[in-house]
Amino acid sequence: MKTIGHLINGTIDTQASRTQDVFNPSTGEVSKQLALASKTTVEAAIAAAQAAYPAWRNTPPLKRAKIMFRFKELLERNADEICRLIGEEHGKIAHDAMGELQRGIENVEYACGAPELLKGEYSKNAGPAIDSWSEFQPLGVVAGITPFNFPAMVPLWMYPMAIVCGNTFVLKPSERNPSSVLFIAELLHEAGLPPGVLNVVNGDKEAVDVLLSDARIQAVSFVGSTPIAEYIYTTASANGKRCQALGGAKNHAIIMPDADMDNAVSALVGAAFGSSGERCMALSVAVAVGDEAADALISKMTEQMKNLKVGAFSDKSNDFGPVITRAHQEKVIGYINSAEQQGATIVVDGREPTVAGYDKGFYVGGTLIDNVTAEMTCYKEEIFGPVLLVMRVNSMQEAMQLIDDHEYGNGTCIFTRDGEAARYFSDNILVGMVGINVPLPVPVAYHSFGGWKRSLFGDLHAYGPDAVRFYTKRKTVTQRWPSAGVREGAQFSFPS
Ligand code: NAD
Repeated sequence: MKTIGHLINGTIDTQASRTQDVFNPSTGEVSKQLALASKTTVEAAIAAAQAAYPAWRNTPPLKRAKIMFRFKELLERNADEICRLIGEEHGKIAHDAMGELQRGIENVEYACGAPELLKGEYSKNAGPAIDSWSEFQPLGVVAGITPFNFPAMVPLWMYPMAIVCGNTFVLKPSERNPSSVLFIAELLHEAGLPPGVLNVVNGDKEAVDVLLSDARIQAVSFVGSTPIAEYIYTTASANGKRCQALGGAKNHAIIMPDADMDNAVSALVGAAFGSSGERCMALSVAVAVGDEAADALISKMTEQMKNLKVGAFSDKSNDFGPVITRAHQEKVIGYINSAEQQGATIVVDGREPTVAGYDKGFYVGGTLIDNVTAEMTCYKEEIFGPVLLVMRVNSMQEAMQLIDDHEYGNGTCIFTRDGEAARYFSDNILVGMVGINVPLPVPVAYHSFGGWKRSLFGDLHAYGPDAVRFYTKRKTVTQRWPSAGVREGAQFSFPS
């Protein structure tokens, strides 16, 4: 059976004292072994990144950007293979994997603009014959730690921008689906990246803890669940590192009585069940304003959900695939059981889906639960499965209060025809990414991505303009060239 290793200093290393199974969630079978990095392996990756840094820091930004241009072309040329690798280890269907890859490529395109983004600011005659400028210098070696649900896109949120800004990088991707990550990293080397600038170490907590404690790592970008994001942020910060840690979500959609209900329902079905609900921007709660809107929503959702097709990643006609592991399948089903026990109504039950020929796969069917209340476990916690909760409220204010009171503040949206209500909602809601009749308001690559409250620890969001700030430190230089022979006396007052 194939063993997946690490990419250190441009070379694949598969030696390991510990390994872990990699599953094909569609069949439920083990498909590969993953080498789990020891402290020594992670330290070798950091050393490679440290050694590559001086030359890379001094490589002109335009030359760095040219490598990104070639990388983008290689990603496009190899898109089918990347999507196959994602599907095999994640379970997502090719159309969904292609969407994630496209979003990742858009981040590479943004990184191609590095020479423009790094230009800095200049003031001539800031004082008499004094010029001043601000420039953005790289940090050094930076690390990224990424989740399973977007194995191509989330790493591409991080290292293209970090690298074009002049840093070198150590990536620790999810141990669940490592193959597409490694394949993409190899493409970047094919595009001309010097060895050591990007290193990939596979592993678990042992590898992560080395990245959090090693003094050579200057900054850490993390995306994953909230408890781990909080741990990463507090540990990295305590060790003096810059850190951004994006966490979990519970994304609400408000359905106003005046909404275009047919379009809202189609949008909800895609955003709740696409990718088996394993998206940090998945809509997991529909808050209907008024019983009339709620009843129409439930009846139209039930009708549309009859056509949902769950199945193996390899069949492109499927709407969504399995969840990531057997343990996660059991956890999602546990949340549906708890909703039932706590008094909610299971309208469409996905606990026992039949997927012919794949009875060992980790499937959960699309599930719709009505009459959910704020005290229920299924509402308080992130389910991360194909489960949509419906809550009934009497006013938009009540709906907004629910959202504001929730621990998470990643994404939200409102379905309405009322511009004034939409404007009030987007202006006041305590959530980082807002959609108006847009179910998945994932910012494009030239804006930045991030939630509020316990969905993000740190100050700067991921990718886009915030990434330039996160992966650089500002230096301001003030210069004066005194005229030859002019003698100046000491000045004791503060220069003004
Ligand atoms: P996870 O938190 O279990 O794992 C994320 C990363 O942390 C992995 O690389 C993993 O190896 C590492 N890790 C896990 N446990 C650790 C520990 N105890 N100590 C140190 N490192 C550890 O997340 P996941 O299950 O891979 O991904 C799903 C989660 O990610 C969901 O909560 C989802 O909402 C979130 N997510 C958030 C965003 C966002 O932008 N906010 C995007 C994608 C996913």
